[in-house]
Amino acid sequence: MKFNWASIKFKVDIELCIGCGACEAKCPEVFELVDNKSQVKLDPVPEEFQEGALEAEDNCPVQAISHE
Ligand code: SF4
Repeated sequence: MKFNWASIKFKVDIELCIGCGACEAKCPEVFELVDNKSQVKLDPVPEEFQEGALEAEDNCPVQAISHE
């Protein structure tokens, strides 16, 4: 059996986040709004959720999401 452990870490800059909820709507497996700020729930983000998380990053209106 083959495992793929490749993963990406996502980060939300809460100073920039305006709590619009777009990232949570796009990828609720990874992002969750707490007190009107987005939090990353999975660190690192497993491969099956990376595409959704990258889309959420692209869609963030204030570029508060980044990854490494
Ligand atoms: S999309 Fe951006 S601004 Fe909106 S809640 Fe997520 S991190 Fe915050």
